[in-house]
Amino acid sequence: MPSIFATLRRRAKALHRNLRGARMATRALASTDHPLLAHIIPVRRCNLSCTYCNEFDDFSKPVPTEEMFRRIDKLGALGTAVVTISGGEPLLHPDLDDVIRRIRSNGMIAGLITNGYFLVADRIQRLNRAGLEWLQISIDNVNPDEVSKKSLKVLDKKLQLLAEHAEFHVNINSVVGGGIASPQDALAIGKRAVELGFSSTIGIIHDGSGQVQPLNDEERHIYDEMKSWEKRSFTRINAFQDNIAQGLPNEWRCRAGARYLYICEDGLSIFDNWRAPQHPALVMPEPPAEELVQTK
Ligand code: SF4
Repeated sequence: MPSIFATLRRRAKALHRNLRGARMATRALASTDHPLLAHIIPVRRCNLSCTYCNEFDDFSKPVPTEEMFRRIDKLGALGTAVVTISGGEPLLHPDLDDVIRRIRSNGMIAGLITNGYFLVADRIQRLNRAGLEWLQISIDNVNPDEVSKKSLKVLDKKLQLLAEHAEFHVNINSVVGGGIASPQDALAIGKRAVELGFSSTIGIIHDGSGQVQPLNDEERHIYDEMKSWEKRSFTRINAFQDNIAQGLPNEWRCRAGARYLYICEDGLSIFDNWRAPQHPALVMPEPPAEELVQTK
C-alpha cells in the first residue's frame, strides 16, 4: 500500500496533469496550426512477438539519444501538445528517462506505451523522477497464448507494483477483435485495472495486415460495457472506434498529418502507422526531423 505522503503527492500530480491536459485541449481547439499528438519510436526492437503486430523486430538498435533529442525538440518547436513514446518496447532504450525529460523540458505532455515486462519498483520510481505523466499497458488476454503473451496472469505483479509506486496516471487497455480467442478476457482485465485504481479502456485490435473488422455480438456487448467505464481524458481520443465496432464508416476529416504525427525509428513521419515502416503511406524524407512540415 502506498503511504499517505505518496498518495497526496500522486493526487497533486494528477491535478497538475489534468489542468495541463485541459489547457492543451483548449489550445488545440482554438488553434489548428500545431500537432495535437505525436507518437515517437525510440527503438523498434521488442522482447515479445505478438502475432498481430507489425511494429517490431528482434534486432534493431536504439535510436541514438542525441537524435531522439533532435526529433523531440522539433516536435516542441512545432507546438506539439502530447508526445507518446512507444515501440517496439520503449523500455529497451537505455536513455529513456532522458528522452522523457526532454519531452517535458519542451513543455509537452509525456506518455509511454509499454508491454510492462521490464517494470520493477526501481524502474517505476525512475520514471516518476523523469517526469512521466501517463503510462499505458495493453493486456490482450488472461492467459498467454500463441497470439500474445501480454497477459493478465503474467503482468498482474507488475500492475501491483505500479499501483504501489507510480506517481503518473496508469491506463490499462484491453482489446477485442483481431483473433483474440476469448473476448470475455477484456472484462476481467478491465475489472482488475479498476480494482487497482487505474483507468481502463477497450480497443479494437487489428489483424496482422492492419485491418480492423466489425465486432460480433459478444464482442460488441463487451465493448459497450467497457466503454461505459471509460472516463474522458486527453489521453483517449478514440471515439472513432464506436463506428468501427459497428462496421460503419467514419467521417474522417483529413488534416494531412497536421494534428497527429507518427515518427518512426528512422525519423520518418508516417500518417498510417499500421503500414509502417515497410509500406509507409507517406514519408517525409531525410534529414528526418528537419523535414517535418506542418500542414493544415
Ligand atoms: S504489440 Fe507491443 S509487445 Fe507485442 S510485439 Fe508489438 S511492440 Fe512488442
